[in-house]
Amino acid sequence: MMEPVGGGGEEEKKEKEKLCRRCKATYAPSSNTRLSCRFHPSFFVCRRHDDQKRYYQLRHGDPPYAAKFYDCCGAEDPDAAGCTTDFHLSYDDPDA
Ligand SMILES: [Zn+2]
Ligand SMILES: [Zn+2]
Repeated sequence: MMEPVGGGGEEEKKEKEKLCRRCKATYAPSSNTRLSCRFHPSFFVCRRHDDQKRYYQLRHGDPPYAAKFYDCCGAEDPDAAGCTTDFHLSYDDPDA
């Protein structure tokens, strides 16, 4: 009988993936680096930009709440890629 090549061992060594509570991605703890998690440190808000120098300009007739953006970086797309990267944070980790 031939032994299956490459079998055995691999399964038990396989790392249990964790779920990041920040970006909701699953990741392997061993490959978690400072660049792994991409997120916005602040919330997507709906109000005027604090300073009018941001790139969103309200036009005449726009209600003041027309501006929706991430408070951290001013990105106006809720699906915009995060402006900050850091280690993924699992639900097992203590609050930072
Ligand atoms: Zn993450
Ligand atoms: Zn941001």
